[in-house]
Amino acid sequence: MFRLKKPIITMETIRAMEDMSYFTHALIFDDLLIIAQKETNCFVLKTTDGLIVIDAIWPCEEAFNAIVFAIKDVGWKPEDIKKLVLTHGHVDHTGCGKWIVNAFHAKTYLSKRDDIFWQTEPAKKNRPETWKDYTIDVYVKDGDTITLGDKTIYVYDTPGHTPGGLSFIFNVTENKKIYQAALWGGSNPPANLQDIILYMKSLDYFMEQCENKNVEIALSNHTGLDNGMERIVYSQKRMSYMPNIYLIGQSGFRRYCQLFRNLCYEKLEMMK
Ligand SMILES: [Zn+2]
Repeated sequence: MFRLKKPIITMETIRAMEDMSYFTHALIFDDLLIIAQKETNCFVLKTTDGLIVIDAIWPCEEAFNAIVFAIKDVGWKPEDIKKLVLTHGHVDHTGCGKWIVNAFHAKTYLSKRDDIFWQTEPAKKNRPETWKDYTIDVYVKDGDTITLGDKTIYVYDTPGHTPGGLSFIFNVTENKKIYQAALWGGSNPPANLQDIILYMKSLDYFMEQCENKNVEIALSNHTGLDNGMERIVYSQKRMSYMPNIYLIGQSGFRRYCQLFRNLCYEKLEMMK
């Protein structure tokens, strides 16, 4: 049977990232919540000492309200948000952080390189409302850890999509069983050859780290990469006997990463 080997990304995909008319969410592990608009999503990780928000969708109040609503809907407290951790300095991930910081005084984390990049090369150059609008409190880099309560996020430098892009590994729980989850921070490969090579090196490096840590869960911050919307709907309606659709095993994780390699090959092919 024919299966897609890479996602289809069009101008419509890019436009839909700004559509704030629709949000959805699901508790995908006992301690991990996903919140999405049509193309972009973020995560909330519950710890014994509060909540960590990972990425923040888009710089607008609607996105902030959707995150707050989802947290309340699963019985958690938005005022428990202690940290905001960002994968990279693009506007669809730095998102509504300003509102999160103002409302809950969350401590913010990003690489130094992408904090500068976010300011000097805004993804939407003609759109002041999307420019850097809050401060990063802690610069993190390869080998660092971000800890809150019983959770630790392991940080990896994965440049290529942006100069200071980060990827993360952390554990999540379902029915008292602990699993390792990985979030590849930079989704779409870059446009020029040098950066594509850097991106592929980062991918190899991160895959090796994930292999060492026995990662069995592939998380994405764009829904178009992993049937994200459909998996959220499945998770909302999932019955107790059904498998967790995010739990794909080590070989599944390797196959997921192949998708990003295929996107790189496509870009290289287009350069010929
Ligand atoms: Zn990006």
